[in-house]
Amino acid sequence: MVCKNCTRPFEGLYCYHCGQPAATHRITTREILTDAIFSVVKVNRGFLFTAKELSLRPGKAIQLYLAGQRVTYYAPHKYLFFIGAVTSFLTSRYHSFSDEYTSVGSFDGGTHTFLRAFFQYADTYATLINIVTIPVFALFSFLLFRRSGYNYAEHLVLNTYITSQQLLLFIGWLPFTRAMPLPVDWLLGLYVAITLGYNLWVYLQFCGARTAASLLRAVAAMGLAYLGQFLLNLLFFHFGGVYL
Ligand SMILES: [Zn+2]
Repeated sequence: MVCKNCTRPFEGLYCYHCGQPAATHRITTREILTDAIFSVVKVNRGFLFTAKELSLRPGKAIQLYLAGQRVTYYAPHKYLFFIGAVTSFLTSRYHSFSDEYTSVGSFDGGTHTFLRAFFQYADTYATLINIVTIPVFALFSFLLFRRSGYNYAEHLVLNTYITSQQLLLFIGWLPFTRAMPLPVDWLLGLYVAITLGYNLWVYLQFCGARTAASLLRAVAAMGLAYLGQFLLNLLFFHFGGVYL
């Protein structure tokens, strides 16, 4: 059989040079519709599977992805892009941070103005900053877990999945902040505790850590990365706020 795409000879259901299917016929409206439906369903299945695995056994799932299970899992950059887009939309629409801040208002004039501006900025750019600082997280987890044998790019994958899953948790969290009668700082504190706990859990599972020393390394990697993220945040706010 000769491939209709690259004209090289092949056998089987797909061309092994370029991936073109053996069976193609003229495009019909019916085919376009079934193709569209099928691709959406397929994407959702991969997405839901990845979301489930990253909730139940994140460290193991990322190990399997890196070991070669590339078709089963939604690729990290696509996963992040999709969840990041939804989060950006929701935070800019519902102003989760500045709304929460308006209920705090017990600071004097200057601090008040600064904090209000900062929270408004966080509303707009929090997701972006989370995404931009993934390489910082990857750097510290790479440096502190060098012995686990993964390279920097593989740590980028690890931290991309973690950030995506934290953003997904944030999306799920939003309805609670509306529905629950708890004070805002409690809700926010609980959310931060859960995301930090998640990050730590994934690091430990991913690196197969069992000792107190590796627990300490994971905490150090997170501490340094969050410090870096905070500094970047301030820098962005200070310089970016003028232009953005
Ligand atoms: Zn071909």
